[in-house]
Amino acid sequence: YPNLSKLVVLFTVSGGGLVAYSDANPISGYQSIFPVETENKKKRVVVLGTGWAGTSFLKNLKNPEYDVQVVSPRNYFAFTPLLPSVTCGTVEARSIVEPIRNIIRKKNMDIRYWEAECFKIDAQNKRIYCRSNKPSNLNGKQEFVVEYDYLVVAMGARSNTFNIPGVEENCKFLKEVEDAQEIRRSVIDCFEKASLPNLSEEERKRILHFVIVGGGPTGVEFAAELHDFVNEDMVKLNPGVKELVKITLLEATDHILGMFDKRITEFAEKKFKREGIDVRTGAMVVKVSDKEISTKERSGEVSSIPYGMAVWSTGIGTRPVIRDFMQQVGQINRRALATDEWLRVDGTDNIYALGDCATINQRKVMEDISAIFNKADKDNSGTLSAKEAREVIMDICERYPQVDLYLKNKQLRDIVDLLKESKKGVEKESIELNIEEFKSALSQVDSQMKNLPATAQVAAQQGAYLADCFNRMEDCEKDPEGPLRFRGSGRHRFRPFRYKHFGQFAPLGGEQTAAQLPGDWVSIGHSSQWLWYSVYASKQVSWRTRMLVISDWTRRFIFGRDSSRI
Ligand code: FAD
Repeated sequence: YPNLSKLVVLFTVSGGGLVAYSDANPISGYQSIFPVETENKKKRVVVLGTGWAGTSFLKNLKNPEYDVQVVSPRNYFAFTPLLPSVTCGTVEARSIVEPIRNIIRKKNMDIRYWEAECFKIDAQNKRIYCRSNKPSNLNGKQEFVVEYDYLVVAMGARSNTFNIPGVEENCKFLKEVEDAQEIRRSVIDCFEKASLPNLSEEERKRILHFVIVGGGPTGVEFAAELHDFVNEDMVKLNPGVKELVKITLLEATDHILGMFDKRITEFAEKKFKREGIDVRTGAMVVKVSDKEISTKERSGEVSSIPYGMAVWSTGIGTRPVIRDFMQQVGQINRRALATDEWLRVDGTDNIYALGDCATINQRKVMEDISAIFNKADKDNSGTLSAKEAREVIMDICERYPQVDLYLKNKQLRDIVDLLKESKKGVEKESIELNIEEFKSALSQVDSQMKNLPATAQVAAQQGAYLADCFNRMEDCEKDPEGPLRFRGSGRHRFRPFRYKHFGQFAPLGGEQTAAQLPGDWVSIGHSSQWLWYSVYASKQVSWRTRMLVISDWTRRFIFGRDSSRI
């Protein structure tokens, strides 16, 4: 390496046998770390993030011909679908996390982990700037630079407050393990506070009013968990408070669980109503103070809701480092990094983005869909019979599963429902589908179709796909005509990423879950709860966490949840 004499040994990374050096960079003043060049020069792959996407990439990467460095402020992987269960102590926080070093230890590869956050990506010079989140112990050496040949950006997203005043300061979020732990403490705090002497009835009611903002799967699951916790555990310990506790779920649109089948939405709304959970739809939060939430109804009426604890769960926003990087690569006014269908960031050559921080720019969705229609419309009549239309729609839904997921557009939904009915044997063969009408309905949801849902399922599949590409990259270069289906031309050597939707769950409390599985199969109730238990136990990243989670569930069945505030 040039200027070796100036290099100062900073530290030795044990195990991997690599030595990292510090080079006082005269321009930026950052410490720079990089591996000593080995004879067998390996390509450096830097992975940002240890969430679903980053961990799935690492777990599936098998080619030892890379020098891999992982940068993340979190030295563990967290099984986020069980976070709502942590908020009330159904499972313990430590049961759903796996140290990232445990995951990389099992791989026979050069993988090193740095506990730090990346605060700048310099795409031009192929380097990232990082900062340790333990600054106080490092005597000012907490910042460093890591150089890469390939960068895998899997930094996830942050909670979105939509800049509504008071949200950041007064609401709890449910995004990280620490958030779930904080909510758990805060719920118990509210009960203890409300039990103190000298409080008016009104004040006790306010303290025990739990408000959840956002009727998506996370908000709904948390409301259900909280309701179970109160009714199964807290009332036994504080019998007097049952009449004072209130749970309110605020949702700005017309229904909770809007992305689920309407049978699930209706069931959840009715169940919550029966159980006394106040579901207020069409209520937009406009301001939050330390004791009150102001909402604006469709009619324009503004009302104030006194609360003891509020949880904000309304969706995700962009991390500042991603926003800064988006500007660098000319992607402005977007929520997430646009990539092509091979997960490569638009406007870059060797940077990939996956998971919640990315969105696939499927520019050709409408073109593809038109082509499918035109092929089916053999007689050029502009209409398709029900049979033809059904085949076309199934083809589109398979190729773009998000079409089926995001069909909020009424006209489109009706057409698809009609065709699905006709598939079930209901005689609708006489209907004809007007192609232009259907295309125009589709184009209205075009922007939604371009986005895959921000879920662990998508992130994990993207991580596995990209690792597979990296595993085969070298083989492909050596043998471009090989069996790996290179494209005839262009810069992409692999098949594009295709998402496979395996269904989704919405736990509704009281040992009942709603499950929506592919093929329009919906199941709600106790049997789905057992399916939920099996799927989530089987999806754990290690046997250790699997055993811990199962033992937490068993403990809860036998002893109930622990209400100590620790
Ligand atoms: P994350 O998993 O969020 O990981 C991001 C990683 O990047 C983290 O390790 C983080 O520490 C790291 N990072 C952050 N900033 C930096 C930085 N500056 N530098 C380096 N690293 C950084 N999905 C489902 O499919 N099913 C569910 O049931 C489900 N339930 C959910 C429940 C809750 C409460 C939540 C919050 C989410 C749930 N999701 C669910 C969504 C799912 O968790 C996300 O879609 C998924 O985590 C996205 O994966 P990711 O790897 O993109 O991001």
